Amino acid sequence: MSTAATSLPERNAAEVAELFLSPEVAATEVLARRTRQRRQMFVGQVASYSLGCFVLLLYGYDGAVAMHVPSLFFVGGLSIIGIFVVMSEAGVGDRSTDHYLTVFQISAHMALQFVFLVSVPTIGISFIAVLFLIFAFGTLRMTSAQAMITWALATAGLAAVFLGSDLPIGIPVATRLQRTATMLCFVLVIGQCAFLGLFGATLRKILYRRSIELKAAYQRIEELAELDELTGAHNRRCIMRVLEAEMEKSRRASKTCAIALIDLDWFKRINDAHGHPIGDEVLRTFAITIFANIRPTDSFGRYGGEEFLLVMPDTTTDVAQRMLERLRGIVADLDWSAFSPGLHVTISAGVTTLRDIDTADTFLARVDSALYSAKAQGRNRIATS
Ligand code: GH3
Ligand code: MG
Ligand code: MG
Repeated sequence: MSTAATSLPERNAAEVAELFLSPEVAATEVLARRTRQRRQMFVGQVASYSLGCFVLLLYGYDGAVAMHVPSLFFVGGLSIIGIFVVMSEAGVGDRSTDHYLTVFQISAHMALQFVFLVSVPTIGISFIAVLFLIFAFGTLRMTSAQAMITWALATAGLAAVFLGSDLPIGIPVATRLQRTATMLCFVLVIGQCAFLGLFGATLRKILYRRSIELKAAYQRIEELAELDELTGAHNRRCIMRVLEAEMEKSRRASKTCAIALIDLDWFKRINDAHGHPIGDEVLRTFAITIFANIRPTDSFGRYGGEEFLLVMPDTTTDVAQRMLERLRGIVADLDWSAFSPGLHVTISAGVTTLRDIDTADTFLARVDSALYSAKAQGRNRIATS
C-alpha cells in the first residue's frame, strides 16, 4: 500500500526532470551536435573533391588538361575546407546566425569553380556541373534570402564568363577516355546531388520526429502542471476550471451537477500525534482511495491543505450523498494503523447540487457551509445543503 501511495509524486518529479534540461546543458548539447554535423559535412566535401580530382586525372592522363590541374583543384578545395574546419573548431559559426557559414562556404567553393572555369575553359562544363552540386549542398542549410544572394553571385559569375569573354567553354569528348571522364563527371555529380537529397529527406524526418516528441513533452508538462504534487489529484487551479466547465455544461444540457467538499477530520491532531510525513502519507492514500472509488466522469482535486473537491456531473443530491456515504465508510474502514500504530482517519463532507442562480462562489459557499454543519454534528459524516 505504501509503495503505491508514494509512487505518484515521485514519478512526477522524475518526469519533470526529464522534460526540462537546464539551458546550459541544452546549449552544450546543441553546440556538440552542430560541431558533429559540421565535421560530417567537411568529410563529405573532402570525398567530393577527391571524386572531382579523379575525373580531372582522367582528363590529365588523356592530355586534355595539364597534369597539375587535378592537383591544384584538389589543393584548392582542401584549402577552402581547411579554412572552414579551423573556423568551425574555433566556434566562429556558433557565434554567427549562419551556424554552418553556408553562404561563405558556397561563395568560396563557387569562386574556386570559376577560377578553374576561366583557367581551363576546355573542361569548363565539368566545373559548371559542380556548381549544381554546391547549390544542392547549400539548399540543405540556406534561407531563401541566402539562396537569392548566392544565386545572384553565380549569375554574375556566369554572365561574366559567358557574355563578358570569348572563352571556349566546353567539355572534351574526342577520345574514349575523355568520353568516359565526361560521363563520370556527370554521373558523380548527379549521384552526389541524389545523396544530398536523401540526406535532406533524413533531416526532414528527424525534424518531424522531434516535433512529435516536443508535442508529447508539452502535453505531459501541461498534465503535470495540473496535478497536485503530493496526492496526484488535480490541483486547485485545475479543479476550479473543471468546476466552472461542468457548471456551464450542466446548464446547457439542463442537467444537475453535484459537488462535495471533503475534509479530513482532526488532521492537525494526526500530524501532531504521528508526524507530518505520516500526515502526507495519509493524504496520498486518501486520494488514491477516492480515485479508486469514483466514476470516470467525476473529477477530484485538492482544494487546499486537507480539503478536497469532488465534482460529480449529472448527479442528484441523493445519489451524491449515497456516494459520499460509501466513500466515508471506505476511508473509515481502512487499516490506517499499518502506517502508524493507533492511527484512525475519518472524513466529513458537505454535498450540494447546482442551482440556477449559482456562481462558482455561491456554489462553493453552500458546499462549505454543508461541510461546516457535518463538522458541527460531530465529524465522520456527510451533510447536504
Ligand atoms: P477539522 O476536523 O475541524 O477539519 O480539524 P483539522 O485538524 O483537520 O483542521 P485544521 O484546519 O485545524 O488543520 C488542518 C491541518 O492540516 C493543519 C495543517 O498543518 C495540515 N495540513 C495541511 N496541508 C498538509 C499537508 O500537505 N501535509 C500534512 N502532513 N499536513 C497538512
Ligand atoms: Mg480537517
Ligand atoms: Mg480543513
